[in-house]
Amino acid sequence: MADDAVDSAVRQRRAGAARGAGTRPARRPAAEPGSGTSSALSSERGWEYAPAPESREIVSIASEYGLFVNGEFEPAKKGRTFPTINPATEEPLAKVALAGQADVDRAVAAARAAYEQVWGPMPGSERAKYLYRIARILQERSREFAVLESIDNGKPIKETRDVDIPLAAAHFFYYAGWADKLEYAGFGPQPRPLGVAGQVIPWNFPLLMAAWKLAPALAAGNTCVLKPAETTPLSALLLAEVCQQAELPPGVVNVLTGAGETGAAVVAHPSVNKVAFTGSTEVGIAIAEAIAGSGKKLTLELGGKAANVVFDDAPVDQAIEGIVNGIFFNQGHVCCAGSRLLVQESVADHVVDRLRQRLATLRLGDPLDKNTDIGAINSRQQLDKITELSSAGEAEGAHRWSPPCELPQKGFWFAPTVFTGVSQSHRIAREEIFGPVLSVLTFRTPEEAVTKANNTPYGLSAGVWTEKGSRILWMAQKMRAGVVWANTYNRFDPASPFGGYRESGFGREGGRHGLAAYLDV
Ligand code: NDP
Repeated sequence: MADDAVDSAVRQRRAGAARGAGTRPARRPAAEPGSGTSSALSSERGWEYAPAPESREIVSIASEYGLFVNGEFEPAKKGRTFPTINPATEEPLAKVALAGQADVDRAVAAARAAYEQVWGPMPGSERAKYLYRIARILQERSREFAVLESIDNGKPIKETRDVDIPLAAAHFFYYAGWADKLEYAGFGPQPRPLGVAGQVIPWNFPLLMAAWKLAPALAAGNTCVLKPAETTPLSALLLAEVCQQAELPPGVVNVLTGAGETGAAVVAHPSVNKVAFTGSTEVGIAIAEAIAGSGKKLTLELGGKAANVVFDDAPVDQAIEGIVNGIFFNQGHVCCAGSRLLVQESVADHVVDRLRQRLATLRLGDPLDKNTDIGAINSRQQLDKITELSSAGEAEGAHRWSPPCELPQKGFWFAPTVFTGVSQSHRIAREEIFGPVLSVLTFRTPEEAVTKANNTPYGLSAGVWTEKGSRILWMAQKMRAGVVWANTYNRFDPASPFGGYRESGFGREGGRHGLAAYLDV
């Protein structure tokens, strides 16, 4: 069996891969088989990175946050709050208002009034000015946003600094450009906005998902009620402050922090015309059921179990970087993560070997350290899910491996993990783990690669690694995925549409397509 070939190489190399001795205090060795206790860099080359922490000083976190309704921050009507914590340390950061039905009513009413009286009638060229202003303020305050996002989410500062925040600003810039050109977007001479958009977002890219939702909605002339995830409310609240700073008219953007019930109340509100959701397939289905027959326009961006397919003619060095980026970027908390590596059998041993060498150089730890590659898992609940699914992988017979890696004592951490000997029936090959866990499968022919890649209820993304352009095109046609990356992975651009098929949802975000979701077309 192809997968057995991988495993025999894995077994032979395990002893060599798991070396090193612990150096840093207050850390615990990763529990996975094959783990050592310090980074390969320190033990093999005799040097260690000095700490390079980004200062927290630029961020001031209030002890308590209100809801952002009609341009002002105010407590929830019932005075309820919930805590948000730093997942890397479990340190409580702030108490945040928990919006109930009365708050949802008020926010939707504010959005409705702003839509009818100000934002809807406003010429696109004027709306564009506000969007440009928001984009520029995001750039000006990018370091503050990057630090805050890392603290509240647990993701490494180099990702928030280089990916999340610049892309969020880029989305506002991009859609600002569309605001006065909607009649040229291909949706008819005078495309109309829908009205009030109820938008519910997850915790994996808190600011970026807010930007993906707000920017096209506002450009098209809608007003918004945004519900951020419970574990990551702070950057959305800072974005609300940016809206104030940009003098966005009151009620155009409203931010309601709260739990799942808050999100449910937002999407079910009768005065909401459009619902946009990013998150789990389970909640996406519940939302689709809840609003069925209401006439509300719906877009769902749900989970994924993407195949990252490596052919034997692929440039291996680049492919290894693409595999690592595909599954270990953002701790694997990525809906389009390349969580299934399909590698051609003839190069499987070599690729897995090289992958292990590369993983041994990844640095896990303090998200605010500029050299950190892998940050904290966002919540205990998510850590439990990753742990449970990884245990299921072992129980079902796959072979588990992690590089030498120390886990901090406090906070939520999971070592980068690779499973070989995975069969298609294993839960780790079928279910979205949403963590730093890669399942390796093999194939012999392109047809087998396609069959295996498509053997999933999801259809969000895929990757192909080969030097043959004709094979890239053939694979892209055959693989049922909304996005297919060729010789790269996890590339995002505001001008490029993103979205899925089947249980990955429907509708597109980004690009001209992203406007359609917020126009009456
Ligand atoms: P959810 O889908 O539960 O959460 C996404 C957002 O929806 C959050 O703001 C959440 O609020 C809100 N929400 C929860 N229930 C409802 C509801 N009934 N109606 C309206 N909104 C609701 O994701 P989880 O955070 O619970 O993560 C669970 C799993 O989902 C993960 O393990 C991962 O596999 C997957 N996931 C996928 C994502 C993707 O981008 N594809 C993103 C996040 C998770 P609250 O935060 O308060 O619960």
